[in-house]
Amino acid sequence: MKNIALTGGIGCGKTTVSNIFLKNFGIPTIDTDLLARQAVTKGSSGLTQVISRFGSDILNDKDELDRLKLKKIIFFDKDKRKTLEKIIHPIVNRLVKEKIRMITSHYCLIAVPILRKESTIMSLVDRVLFIDCKESIRIERTVLRDKLELPLVKKIIKSQPSRIELKEMATDIIQNNDSFSELNRDIGKLHEKFIRLFER
Ligand code: ATP
Repeated sequence: MKNIALTGGIGCGKTTVSNIFLKNFGIPTIDTDLLARQAVTKGSSGLTQVISRFGSDILNDKDELDRLKLKKIIFFDKDKRKTLEKIIHPIVNRLVKEKIRMITSHYCLIAVPILRKESTIMSLVDRVLFIDCKESIRIERTVLRDKLELPLVKKIIKSQPSRIELKEMATDIIQNNDSFSELNRDIGKLHEKFIRLFER
């Protein structure tokens, strides 16, 4: 079985794309965001490690991780972000491997919103699918979806890997600037390509 990283910045259409792969072709997506949450659930060894680095101030009154507080700490501090990633990423990799073992399709997608060359998940993937979308369209769709303020969306975009970085890592690119029907068509073509490649 082959594993394809599914990546792209905020509002580019990763969730939409993974839903289409599942609905049209039965190709599942492993969501690393979800697994990253699982890695630091209450009482987990992941959370214990996070507390030992960031202090118990990052817990809420139920002794769960206060994700917003932690996000604020790491948003502008690269070293702290790296420290956190060093704890979380190996746990996520282990959980991804467990999920992969249960999948029976020809290939699966692994959704990784923040993918960098040095990301540990790169050791598990055979290809990288980048969902590209013009910034103005992403902003419009994200504001509409999340009712977020425009400056915040722009700030988030700036903090994520750039389109250039993601393009460099990509083995496959889908442009998601048009309608859902064009997206469906392009995903269909890509699926055929993957099947051809992986059946060799
Ligand atoms: P995030 O990383 O922020 O979670 P995402 O990459 O998963 O975002 P989606 O949630 O799939 O992005 O898409 C963002 C919004 O854009 C959604 O409301 C979705 O319905 C809409 N959208 C995605 N693709 C298209 C399209 N081709 N045409 C119109 N709307 C679209």
